[in-house]
Amino acid sequence: MKCRRCKAPAVIDVRRHNAAFCSDCFLHHCREQVRRAIHEFSMFGPEDRILVAVSGGKDSLALWHLLGALGYSADGLYIGLGIGGYSEESEVRTRAFATEHGLALQVISLPEDHGYDVETAAQRTRRSPCGACGLSKRHLFNRAALDGGYDVVATGHNLDDEAAVLLGNVLHWDLDYLARQHPALPAAPGFARKVKPLYRLGEREMAAYCVLERIDYQIEECPMAAGNRHIGYKETLNDLEARSPGSKAAFLFGFLEKAHPRLASGETDDGVVLHPCPSCGAPTPGEVCAFCRLRARAIPVTAS
Ligand code: SF4
Repeated sequence: MKCRRCKAPAVIDVRRHNAAFCSDCFLHHCREQVRRAIHEFSMFGPEDRILVAVSGGKDSLALWHLLGALGYSADGLYIGLGIGGYSEESEVRTRAFATEHGLALQVISLPEDHGYDVETAAQRTRRSPCGACGLSKRHLFNRAALDGGYDVVATGHNLDDEAAVLLGNVLHWDLDYLARQHPALPAAPGFARKVKPLYRLGEREMAAYCVLERIDYQIEECPMAAGNRHIGYKETLNDLEARSPGSKAAFLFGFLEKAHPRLASGETDDGVVLHPCPSCGAPTPGEVCAFCRLRARAIPVTAS
């Protein structure tokens, strides 16, 4: 197996591109895919202040590394979810990466700074752990970006993640979610711009990138992940991809090119009026925002 670019011995094949790459050319391929994503959707420019949502996993650390390799300066934000040893290990790896590369890292702890952890919040609010976790992370990343004067929040969602979310949204024909599923969401009052520069790269490519760049990431899967329906969607898409390489990319990129513009243009405010949450100031259609409601129910009464 030879590298498609330079004909040296290849170390990895990328079946959806019908190509194999040597180490240097594979890293070049990853950088080019991210560069293309950034330019295609005008995600940010060199002058923008970027906040990377880092979890200690392969995707977010690879994203942070790739942005640096492409000449962007980006700070990191890690949110400790209070998931025992998993969170401790993830934080250690995130801090070590930031130190090794001389990058600025902000750390927020759900238990220490907000008085609850993901498992408690899930139990007390009868949400799934991933639901409570996602709500908390979205709110806190957005808040940190606005408070810190950042222009954009970058997350490590990759092609597999986005294709799985798309499959879930299509299976439920959730048109509101479909209209908002995009690699670059513009800023709006109370909301920072959000981008996903890895959406053109698959999970396997991100793991290979970390190995080749010697990035030490959290390999363990989150213990709360069991039951997350997106894992099932990923497995289904992996079966499809094994039989028909390129299916995931065709599914996601076809949606972005052909369906999303129609859905987004048909998006209206459908009568929903947002106003500042009286507790934290985040835009909300309800009396109090979803994060403050979750937090109020998740914190033990004695600690509130
Ligand atoms: Fe959060 Fe679920 Fe991911 Fe664990 S698997 S980090 S609970 S979203």
